[in-house]
Amino acid sequence: MFLLKIARLGHPIIRETAQSVSKEELNIQPLQTLIDSMVETMRDANGVGIAAPQVHVSKRIIVIEVSADNPRYPNRKAVPLTVIINPVIQSKSQTYETGWEGCLSVPDLRAQVPRSSAVQVSGLDRYGEPLEIDAEGFFARVIQHEVDHLEGNVFLDRLPDLKTVTHLREYH
Ligand code: ZN
Repeated sequence: MFLLKIARLGHPIIRETAQSVSKEELNIQPLQTLIDSMVETMRDANGVGIAAPQVHVSKRIIVIEVSADNPRYPNRKAVPLTVIINPVIQSKSQTYETGWEGCLSVPDLRAQVPRSSAVQVSGLDRYGEPLEIDAEGFFARVIQHEVDHLEGNVFLDRLPDLKTVTHLREYH
């Protein structure tokens, strides 16, 4: 596995709609290596999630992991390493929570983003087995953030009020 270069906002791939991954593709080594490299890259950057377009691969793959001592997002509920291929948000709660988000592709900025407080997401695991996850709170937020990347959206697009955009050092 390798550390991958992270695409930033402004690179066209961040605004593309990502392509679905076939089961056949999942069975071949390059895709498994890509997933391992996404995990390494996310951890190296202290991210809590990463989507394949963020590493210049326009495919529908997201990786999420929240550790309790993550320096970018301290004191969030831990989420074990989760890989979702072709994720689809099947349902969203109609209740919303506003919380701080940043993005490895939008360095140094944070903003308060409203998100559904719970989601149900389906997809495949990295071995092609069907998967369904019920998530709430910060986990639900990260899922919505990462799935947005597959449609070419970033958290800034979700802001009702640009006045919450904050430089990371001022945030701290
Ligand atoms: Zn992001």
